[in-house]
Amino acid sequence: MPNRMETVTLSKINPTPAVLRTALQLDQAGLIKHEEIEALERVGERYSVAIPAGVVALMDPNDPEDPIAKQFVPDTAELDALDNELADPIGDHDHSPLPGLIHRYPDRVLLMPTLSCPVYCRYCFRRDRVGRNAAAPSSTDIDSAIAYIKDRKDIHEVILTGGDPLSLSDTRLGALLAQLSAVPHLNNLRIHTRVPVSLPSRVTDRLIKALRCDLPVWMVLHVNHSRELTTEVANTCERLTRGGIPLLSQSVLLKGVNADIETLSELFRRLIALKVKPYYLHHPDQAQGTARFRLSLEEGRAIFDALRGHLSGLCQPTYVVDIPEGYGKVAAQTAAIEQSDQEWRMKDFKGEIHRYEEI
Ligand code: SF4
Repeated sequence: MPNRMETVTLSKINPTPAVLRTALQLDQAGLIKHEEIEALERVGERYSVAIPAGVVALMDPNDPEDPIAKQFVPDTAELDALDNELADPIGDHDHSPLPGLIHRYPDRVLLMPTLSCPVYCRYCFRRDRVGRNAAAPSSTDIDSAIAYIKDRKDIHEVILTGGDPLSLSDTRLGALLAQLSAVPHLNNLRIHTRVPVSLPSRVTDRLIKALRCDLPVWMVLHVNHSRELTTEVANTCERLTRGGIPLLSQSVLLKGVNADIETLSELFRRLIALKVKPYYLHHPDQAQGTARFRLSLEEGRAIFDALRGHLSGLCQPTYVVDIPEGYGKVAAQTAAIEQSDQEWRMKDFKGEIHRYEEI
């Protein structure tokens, strides 16, 4: 890592780019060890890397345990996938009737109009796909997906995800929402996004206008640590709320980032203060090269149990675990999940029991 003087000199030669994408840029920003450049270039070839300047500004390059850096700065450990880790941990492929569409539960579908994100999370369960534009669905694919939704009257909710749907241009997003609003049996739309937290400048008045359509649009913000909730993010939440968009949050329980009572309490309280209802706390998925983030289900349940005594019900999300290979979510604290003979057994929404092996 360069010392302070070297960092100043380098930054004069190479002004910090708006988004860090290469190992060389990460090195120049003092976020990685110089001797790891080559290995981290290989990580970048395998999994996408992008960190906007605003997120870089939240990191302390002198703290090797910085919870913001751990979420986004690539690590050489990503090259060592464990045998049981999965390229598609929640079974998207098996539940995808058409490109860009996932139909896992009867009443709702996921629509993925883009695979681009403002920032690439190192623990992402779609890390094999995100940022790979060649794999993104075409506009013809999206039209076919909308025709599929129109043909099925038992679908009542469309969840836009990706990638990050707010990576689309205002025009494309507005047109997509208008197409979906015209489907008579839809009840509401939901947008899962990291943009308001990781790239709040993207949330312009024009974008908020583009989100207005004839269906209620709920927005679920992805955020894992209270330090991500800056004044600019707070203002962005306020503008979205005033724009008529109810806000929820989803977080991932991550070892080394937020897996303790104090950090989670602070995060959820701050979210409620910003009028964002904590919705889901996800147990980390078994995605390739993400072992460093995983804690056991028993540890996760103990943390979540303890939260009950620390936080009002309003501040508490539902702690969920996705049954690997696409059988859906189960609440990690309920009777639908039980431990026997050193392994967990989980009941899916159809009543079928699945083994859950910790790795
Ligand atoms: S923003 Fe979501 S989809 Fe994109 S890298 Fe992060 S977790 Fe994955």
